[in-house]
Amino acid sequence: MGHQSWQRSTGKLLQVYPEFDETPWVKTPETYTWPNPDGLYCRSYCPLHPRVHEVVLPLVDEICDAFEADAFHAGMDEVFYLGEARCPRCGGKDKSELFAGEVKRIHAHLQTRQRELWIWGDRLLDGRTTGLGEWEASFNDTHRAVDLIPQDVVICDWHYERPDPTPVYFAMKGFRVLTCPWRNPEAAVRQLHDQLRFREQSATAMKPRFRGMLQTVWSDPGPFLRDLRGHKESADYKQGELTAARCFLRLFDEIQRLKPGSDAKP
Ligand SMILES: [Zn+2]
Repeated sequence: MGHQSWQRSTGKLLQVYPEFDETPWVKTPETYTWPNPDGLYCRSYCPLHPRVHEVVLPLVDEICDAFEADAFHAGMDEVFYLGEARCPRCGGKDKSELFAGEVKRIHAHLQTRQRELWIWGDRLLDGRTTGLGEWEASFNDTHRAVDLIPQDVVICDWHYERPDPTPVYFAMKGFRVLTCPWRNPEAAVRQLHDQLRFREQSATAMKPRFRGMLQTVWSDPGPFLRDLRGHKESADYKQGELTAARCFLRLFDEIQRLKPGSDAKP
């Protein structure tokens, strides 16, 4: 729903169907800066546009078919434009209900094909009360959706700088949850140990909801794979830099170390 543009470039969906734009009155600036007067981070599609699902849901199916996938990650992160007062369809509506409505719509569609829905967790966390801020949690009143969406949605709980113990919150709400690091190996190792500790310390009903770790990569595959394979001669390689590949390697070294029978087990 969100991430339909990036800085000055609008994504394909809203290029072809500009009528789906939640904020068509927001003009793309000549030079993009953040913050900006429109609060433009990324554009969103309007979840109440009567034709948006005719386009989006067949796309979901096509992608799942091509990849023979039994689960679909719908994103749903960092949706800043939602339920805008000037939108003739969403204006004045409850943003948590709008957000949950879109999750339920995609979930129900996937269910007809026996596919699971995965989403990022940030819009389901209250950014103000938790102090998590407006990126990895919500300042735009979507967080009450956590109690409105189906419990079999898988939550990808991303925290890139600090190992916030939010998986417990999602697990207590009934969701399966994966912790998602990016390029901070110390945080990733802490998050791994947290997942294991949460499993160990929780009631039987909660244990299987802590599903482990999901490494995120926010570059093209090329630089990631070159870095992963240690191509130090590559132009992408910078000594000492925090990267997704190095975080991945550190995390999986730790997983190996913790495996039963490993000599290195502490
Ligand atoms: Zn709208």
